[in-house]
Amino acid sequence: MDMQVSFLDRLFESGLLIETGVDGLYGRGGRFEDVIAAFERLIDRYGSADGAEAIRFPPGMNRAYFEKSGYMKSFPQLAGTVHSFCGNELDHISLLKCMDADEDWTSEQKATDIVLTPAACYPLYPTIAKRGNLPEKGGLYDLQSYCFRHEPSNDPARQQLFRMREYVCMGSQEHVTDFRQLWMDRGQQIMAEVALPVEIDVANDPFFGRAGKMLANNQRDQNLKFELLIPITSTTAPTACMSFNYHQDAFGSKWGLNQADGSVAHTACVGFGLERIALALFHHHGLDVDQWPESVRAALWS
Ligand code: ATP
Ligand code: ZN
Ligand code: MG
Repeated sequence: MDMQVSFLDRLFESGLLIETGVDGLYGRGGRFEDVIAAFERLIDRYGSADGAEAIRFPPGMNRAYFEKSGYMKSFPQLAGTVHSFCGNELDHISLLKCMDADEDWTSEQKATDIVLTPAACYPLYPTIAKRGNLPEKGGLYDLQSYCFRHEPSNDPARQQLFRMREYVCMGSQEHVTDFRQLWMDRGQQIMAEVALPVEIDVANDPFFGRAGKMLANNQRDQNLKFELLIPITSTTAPTACMSFNYHQDAFGSKWGLNQADGSVAHTACVGFGLERIALALFHHHGLDVDQWPESVRAALWS
């Protein structure tokens, strides 16, 4: 008989994650959050001298920005929208009847002006474009947000609501690709400090459908996306815990985001998957933080 308990079950039993009845939607225990907070302070130690502007958006974004972003062209399968009841008292009565009869009550819900944020940087581009041309030295922003992706899974490293910490850089091609390389180096140094084994590899986004295959191939061929991978739930298919994206001038031209001299800005972003990194730490060093190697504890809590 196979008595092996899954990593997810052990996370539930230890109270690090809390079951909600939905795959990929979890509560977090205090000790899980402590690790994320400590890891973010470690990120700050590497990034704070760069003088990024800190901005925190809520986990929902302006639906008009979302529509213009083109997300539904590339990733319709992942998006989540916020709908609400907008009816009158009569509509309310039929809503309650419908719920009592166990029928689908959601089809009468109306789209609101808000959609769930799919990646921490999505609300940033239109926000910065509205300010006018970038300063001479370009733009650098520090973001963190819960993000939603409709990808239910029993892999604890693939959640539907999870946090992404990002740095986003805007400016010339050379400026933003240098920024991306800097964080590829720093990402490896940070993971070495907390004794996690890493691999860097070229990657692609899961563009939808047959036409998406071409977009994904193009992204790979041009080295537009790299990932820092750490084995968590599988050794043969390690998990992307950071990603390093160069968007060329795609967001710059979409949003009218210009450099100081008026030419279209290039952009790049680096993202830390905070839950995935916490899970990697628990997987490699054990569920009891007090038992973690002294050097790892020192990197996180000194
Ligand atoms: P994957 O290939 O595993 O689906 P991704 O390429 O979709 O990852 P990105 O879109 O680059 O990931 O998102 C930035 C970071 O957010 C990733 O490097 C990862 O650490 C984290 N992330 C992405 N999807 C999830 C998820 N479903 N649950 C938890 N973290 C995630
Ligand atoms: Zn981004
Ligand atoms: Mg994905």
